[in-house]
Amino acid sequence: MSACLFCKFVSREIPTQVVYEDEHALAFRDINPQAPTHILVIPRIHIENLAAMQIEHAGLMGHLLWVCAEIARQEGIEADGYRVVLNTNRAAGQSVYHLHFHLLGGRQMGWPPG
Ligand code: AMP
Ligand code: ZN
Repeated sequence: MSACLFCKFVSREIPTQVVYEDEHALAFRDINPQAPTHILVIPRIHIENLAAMQIEHAGLMGHLLWVCAEIARQEGIEADGYRVVLNTNRAAGQSVYHLHFHLLGGRQMGWPPG
């Protein structure tokens, strides 16, 4: 059995607020939202982060980005704009080591990111 929190969301061992799911992806609301819309989009399979991505995951990664765009449309943040973030390893602030895209929207974003 996996010790990974996000794998437990995928298996439904731990409940979470799911907003979208399909054969390859799961999306749920971040527990500590940094914007009015803050959703995490993850692959069902365990991949630690972008650094652990293999070439065979290329199609899956494209699919996850499509899911981000689709949810942004559903959430009504497409026209104003939104940000998709993928933190990789310590200096980027990665705290959960199951790859996840942050989908953030509903407020003006700053640049450069902190
Ligand atoms: P990162 O720092 O990029 O690894 O992002 C991990 C994200 O997971 C953070 O934004 C956390 O707020 C979020 N998170 C941690 N635990 C949970 C949880 N139980 N449910 C939903 N989101 C979570
Ligand atoms: Zn996992």
